[in-house]
Amino acid sequence: MHELAPDVWHLPLAPRFGVNAYAVGDVVVDAGLKGSAKKVLGQLHGRHIAAHALTHAHPDHAGGSRQVCDTLGVPCWAGVADVPAARAGLSSPPNSFMDPVQARIRWPGVEVARELREGDEVGGFTVLDAPGHTPGHIAFWRAHDRVLICGDVFLNMSLVTTRFGLHEPPAFVTADPTRNRESMRRLAELEPAIAGFGHGPVLTDAAPKLRAFVDGL
Ligand SMILES: [Zn+2]
Repeated sequence: MHELAPDVWHLPLAPRFGVNAYAVGDVVVDAGLKGSAKKVLGQLHGRHIAAHALTHAHPDHAGGSRQVCDTLGVPCWAGVADVPAARAGLSSPPNSFMDPVQARIRWPGVEVARELREGDEVGGFTVLDAPGHTPGHIAFWRAHDRVLICGDVFLNMSLVTTRFGLHEPPAFVTADPTRNRESMRRLAELEPAIAGFGHGPVLTDAAPKLRAFVDGL
């Protein structure tokens, strides 16, 4: 666990920052794959945690959620439009557009105690709606020191080659790529100093890099 900014911790869950979780204040954000829960819990050891929040309900972020919540005895919070997927442990509601492979990947569903909406406060951060990759994808923003936890709105590595660098999330696991681009632009306009991603290393001096990336889309 590495402190990115006051009370913001990065929890890498896989080699080369392939899968990341974060702790913001007393909230753990994302829990990796089903098999990642132990790593989350190990890195949090001794830290007081009051809740678990999801950037979005996909198996590489919510897979470990039930075990993390059950072990710590804390509630799970998720963006309102991703609550059904988080509860079901299935990212695709029946009859919606979604990659058929992803739709078959199930994970342990978790009860969601709080539906997060734009403007809610979580661990000293503000919830921002950032839909596209999933319908209920949210980001976490702390304006006073410009720290952004953006989930999979941007990736900072190629999931194919694992090379570091900004990418869009792959279209085949993204519910609405056009809407995700709108979310990318919105988050880039915040001019974050530090950006933490679901996949890939944390970016410092993030604003010009995010700006150049969205300008190139
Ligand atoms: Zn992901």
